[in-house]
Amino acid sequence: MKEVILIKDGEIALKGLNRRSFEDVLKKNIKLSLYGLGKFKITSAQSTTYVTPLSEDFDLDEACERVSRIFGIVSFSRAGVCEKDLDEILDFAPRYLAEQLEDIKTFKVEAKRSDKKFPYKSPEICRELGGKILEKFPHLTVDVHNPDAVVTVEVRDFGTYIHTNPCRGAGGIPVGTGGNAAILISGGIDSPVAAYMMAKRGVKLTAIHFASPPYTSERAEQKVVKLLKKVCRYSGPMTMYTVPFTKIQETIKDKCPEELFTIIMRRLMMKISERIARDNDCSALITGESLGQVASQTIHAIGCTDEASDMVVFRPLIGMDKQEIIDISYKIDTFETSIEPYEDCCTVFTPKHPRTRPILKYVKQAEDSANFGDMIEEALQNLKITNINQRED
Ligand code: ATP
Ligand code: MG
Repeated sequence: MKEVILIKDGEIALKGLNRRSFEDVLKKNIKLSLYGLGKFKITSAQSTTYVTPLSEDFDLDEACERVSRIFGIVSFSRAGVCEKDLDEILDFAPRYLAEQLEDIKTFKVEAKRSDKKFPYKSPEICRELGGKILEKFPHLTVDVHNPDAVVTVEVRDFGTYIHTNPCRGAGGIPVGTGGNAAILISGGIDSPVAAYMMAKRGVKLTAIHFASPPYTSERAEQKVVKLLKKVCRYSGPMTMYTVPFTKIQETIKDKCPEELFTIIMRRLMMKISERIARDNDCSALITGESLGQVASQTIHAIGCTDEASDMVVFRPLIGMDKQEIIDISYKIDTFETSIEPYEDCCTVFTPKHPRTRPILKYVKQAEDSANFGDMIEEALQNLKITNINQRED
């Protein structure tokens, strides 16, 4: 039996003239995501994208799982394919859907006939197939208003596709159609969620992580890699830059007023990230900040942090409660990893009484007198690069 995945585009449909290039990006993303599952081909017709397996061993279950995480897809269905012949449809559909039909009480049939040469009109197909299903599954009744399952028959150019209730897609727009941005990623709960949210709006990600060995461990960095591997199931592969931050943090500790440690550290993170972002063709930075969550995320502190770079900073979590963020981290399966107990550089040298209302003028004075210029250059020359992809390696 031949089966395919039928994919319906999401907001792509709204993009008018850009539609074609959006579709091309989506197809490329699907192809990348299904890598390693066996041979398949991807085609598009009539606002539907088809994934057709070409080898026996193609893992369709895993393919559906992966498709459910690709942005730009509103819904998708696993569909059985048969000839464009009414007798064949009446024979095949009840067999193909048997398992699902056993488990429900009501159904209706919907037919779409995009091949107008097919000699039966949609209502006739519905009537015939409805009758056949009732005959084979006498426990079922037809409910046209609120059925447990909608049996869909799509008579298209290259065959007839049979499926029931479509699965909900990941929504959003295809990654790569919304520009490039760099996510500042810690090992915490928030930043992976922020990364996911911007990828959902079509942004292709580059990741930046600040590490301060020996205050932060190798395992802390591995935890970030593990988190990004989860994120890249949605965002696609990305490059991660690890910034050696020890010397800068030690200098902050030695030369700056304690209550400004965190804010100065955050400003330097922004300055370094902006440089990495520009080198990687990114037009924005992303952080996991949420207003009022901690001292460095008050309106005043964020204002001071923001001033450090000239780049747009996206903070997709800014208006969210911690619980709302946690709910998403469960959904994208990052929560359990995020709560593993490894130090982040943000938690070393934390002041006892951080300023919640830092004044930019004094922050900049402290920063200038500690003279970080050469240290920033040195850090940028010693970046560690890690490629992040879905593969288990
Ligand atoms: P998270 O849960 O993402 O760690 P948080 O609530 O702990 O966030 P902070 O530690 O103040 O908040 O960090 C705020 C943001 O700064 C993070 O969401 C992240 O974008 C960035 N950030 C913090 N630590 C690092 C780091 N070591 N490397 C890169 N970015 C970082
Ligand atoms: Mg953190």
